[in-house]
Amino acid sequence: MLRYNDVHAHYGAIHALRGVTLDVQQGEIVTLIGANGAGKSTLMNTLFGKPRASAGSITFLNEDISKKQTHHISRLGLSLVPEGRRIFSRMSVLENLQMGSTFSNPAHFADDLQRVFGMFPILEQRIQQRAGTLSGGEQQMLAIGRALMSRPKVLLLDEPSLGLAPLYIRQVFSIIRELNERDGITIMLVEQNAHHALRVAHRAYVLQHGEIVLTGTGEELLASAEVRAAYLESNAHA
Ligand code: ATP
Repeated sequence: MLRYNDVHAHYGAIHALRGVTLDVQQGEIVTLIGANGAGKSTLMNTLFGKPRASAGSITFLNEDISKKQTHHISRLGLSLVPEGRRIFSRMSVLENLQMGSTFSNPAHFADDLQRVFGMFPILEQRIQQRAGTLSGGEQQMLAIGRALMSRPKVLLLDEPSLGLAPLYIRQVFSIIRELNERDGITIMLVEQNAHHALRVAHRAYVLQHGEIVLTGTGEELLASAEVRAAYLESNAHA
């Protein structure tokens, strides 16, 4: 469904991705783990051309998207929940959700809103509240809700558990599972919280210095001595 083929990316002289090949099949949850600065966010952002792949190709539903405009890519059914959530803090909860439906058929708006409120009742209770005054966990729910308003085929989540209290972390991962199992949404997940991410993932990749160094099922990587030593044993299992 989504395929990176020998993708490189640069920021000036920094060679952030060094020939990444990976794929995400329809219906899967695929997670990408790696240390700070490994290139995880870059990998996700290259999908939207920020930065553009300097070599290699990215295909989505058999279409090469590596040279397409960002707004074109968003219309194809890829929706990103960026690191740090990036909600529109001066806008209300409702306005944020409206922004998420910019590229959608207006006839779906009411149904999509009800679906998001069904999943996150707190957002309905706070519908007119300025988004910047929501708690961190509520802002993450809003960021996910906003991404769902476009009815994505693939939902991309960049560090959704970052900075959240343990209760919210568990909630975020159970939502990820629910979106995949109940709604059939394919998910690509970038996480530093490797323990939770590998438990929820069908397959996973380990990124190190811009290269894929290990791949396997979530279970295989959870059991791998290499992964345990580098990414699990020092992490709190929130
Ligand atoms: P983290 O888990 O800390 O978010 P990451 O794995 O997502 O890290 P990236 O943010 O993709 O890593 O960064 C990969 C490399 O590219 C790092 O060396 C980083 O300093 C560099 N980098 C990222 N964004 C930029 C930018 N806008 N300009 C210059 N260098 C950048």
